Amino acid sequence: MILEVDNIETFYGNIQALKGVSLRISEGEIITLIGANGAGKTTTLMSISGVVPPRSGEVRFEGRPINQLPPEEIVSLGLVQVPEGRRIFPHLTVAENLDMGAFMRRDKDGIRRDLAYVYDLFPILAERRTQAGGTLSGGEQQMLAISRALMARPRVLLLDEPSLGLAPLIVKQIFDIIQKINAENRTTIFLVEQNANLALQVAHRGYVMENGRITLEDSAQALLADEEVKKAYLGL
Ligand code: ATP
Repeated sequence: MILEVDNIETFYGNIQALKGVSLRISEGEIITLIGANGAGKTTTLMSISGVVPPRSGEVRFEGRPINQLPPEEIVSLGLVQVPEGRRIFPHLTVAENLDMGAFMRRDKDGIRRDLAYVYDLFPILAERRTQAGGTLSGGEQQMLAISRALMARPRVLLLDEPSLGLAPLIVKQIFDIIQKINAENRTTIFLVEQNANLALQVAHRGYVMENGRITLEDSAQALLADEEVKKAYLGL
């Protein structure tokens, strides 16, 4: 297992957002976590990335507990989050945003290779490399946010609602690239989505979350065919 989440409980002050969440993720998998607004999906990501550390339970990366580590150490281990709302640096250029993604690294040649790789994945970013991030379209900003995370050399990429607010065609393009990143680099992907249909089409396995708890866990195919999932999350 590359990532194990063991019975974590996470709070915002007195509000308990996660009530004992457990997940098992193998290297090379695309896992999706689906659920309604407020179910606790973002909190699960934040608990893994160390931004909102769990109060109890354990998060292990390659068998090693990481839930006591500060977020930047978790990033340097290779767990890299792309936050919801594509929080890029709007006043920095595309190229500068990508540099920021590599700030923990010292391997200049590797950084250069990864930069060429992301420009190859998203040629539009190469075209706009001297443009300020804030002048990009929503879809391009999402591409930049994913690319910036790739510059940190993720072993596990944590994606929070990459489809949010984007046109279907752009979403399709971004999800194709997510699959490509997974296939080409064996990068493990943990995808949080409200667009359950789309997420289950690219994922290998999925978890369903309700009110801070995991209520279902199965292969993506089985979840797509599940009557409860169809009714509650697929609008069928
Ligand atoms: P969304 O799709 O809306 O992001 P979500 O499934 O990601 O939903 P979370 O954002 O993890 O859900 O929220 C889980 C619970 O924690 C909700 O009840 C929410 O109101 C609460 N919550 C989230 N962030 C905070 C915060 N900063 N302070 C207090 N409560 C919070």
